[in-house]
Amino acid sequence: MKNFSNYTDFDTKENLAFDSKVVHGALGTEPLTGAVSMPIFQAATFRHPEFGQTTGFAYSRLENPTRLELERTMAILEGGIRGFAFSSGQAANMAVFSLLEPGDHIILSDDIYGGTFRIIGDVFGKYGIEHTYVDMSDLDAVQAAIQKNTKMFFIETPTNPMMKVADIHAVSEIAKGIGALTVVDNTFLTPYFQKPLTLGADIVTHSSTKYLGGHNDTISGIVVVKDDEEIAEKINIHIKSHGSQLAPLDSWLVLRGIKTLAVRMDKHNANAKKVAHWLREQKKVEKVYYVGFEDHKDYDVTLKQTTGFGGMISFTVDSEETVMKILKNVDMIMFAESLGGTETLITYPTTQTHEDTPEDVKEKLGITRSFLRMSVGIENPDDIIADLDRAMNG
Ligand SMILES: *Cc1c(COP(=O)(O)O)cnc(C)c1O
Repeated sequence: MKNFSNYTDFDTKENLAFDSKVVHGALGTEPLTGAVSMPIFQAATFRHPEFGQTTGFAYSRLENPTRLELERTMAILEGGIRGFAFSSGQAANMAVFSLLEPGDHIILSDDIYGGTFRIIGDVFGKYGIEHTYVDMSDLDAVQAAIQKNTKMFFIETPTNPMMKVADIHAVSEIAKGIGALTVVDNTFLTPYFQKPLTLGADIVTHSSTKYLGGHNDTISGIVVVKDDEEIAEKINIHIKSHGSQLAPLDSWLVLRGIKTLAVRMDKHNANAKKVAHWLREQKKVEKVYYVGFEDHKDYDVTLKQTTGFGGMISFTVDSEETVMKILKNVDMIMFAESLGGTETLITYPTTQTHEDTPEDVKEKLGITRSFLRMSVGIENPDDIIADLDRAMNG
């Protein structure tokens, strides 16, 4: 029987399956009261019993019980030694890039999240950190991009929005060969479908705004470090110096989202598969980008490293006119940025998520004015298809 009475002793739940781990977290219950839902500890500071004594908590920028439960839960789910919860996915990625020193070189997936382009170009460029974008699904291109000062590989897989798949194990082997770190942004698949740390990566990041939170109600980010205490401590110093930690209420929202991660991901997965196959049959649709298609060029890699395809689909239609028709006429489906929530959202990457990506890069990637991205929600799939059908073909 459980007999935890403090915040120090928690259980990594090795004996539980993943879909039980998400429900029960790290401590699971609040240890002093037994509250089944970890409460929102809305406190800035914590009282000390006397000089030289502490409850383990001092000040909420440094540590907070609600945030700590989220950080430990994410470390358990990704299989790392330590997790950190940030005020956004961007803040999480910032912390990871801060591990680099002036003069270092980083290699990144070429169609990463638009905001990450901005961090690398506008923020880190001026600190003397060099970068190269490559197609991470092309291992020869990855090899060719290596420089003497390459210290980090930053992978998004599947990529956003072109749905290219990088072989995490293969890239991390290349990285190990030159003493560089491999970082995977695991936002799209979550540890329910893909566990980068078990495939060779050193660090995982998330925009937990997306599937982990899952309800389009909070902005947040996660970093999990696999096994290097020194790296974990550097991230810890970054988060407490920058003050980019996640607030208690938002930590609680993400924790609550995680409890249903397994059932939501299965439903996103099943719905996206149905919608992707339907889209492929449509006269006005020229190409569908979906990692679950057997003829997707990276399908073998997907099968090797994931247990599901996720809920993301991109597609190109016959004209910009059709794009405008869809965006104007969708009803249940919402024209909005973001992804990973219960609601189906449709996004126009060229003016939304990838607004800050340079035009020439967008053109090369195929992010054109007739290109759309969809985050398939957990509604009834027939309603999603009927809405799309009416908006596009009606
Ligand atoms: C949304 C997103 C981010 C940025 O996260 P925010 O929570 O919006 O700051 C980073 N990477 C990926 C893959 C994303 O989808």
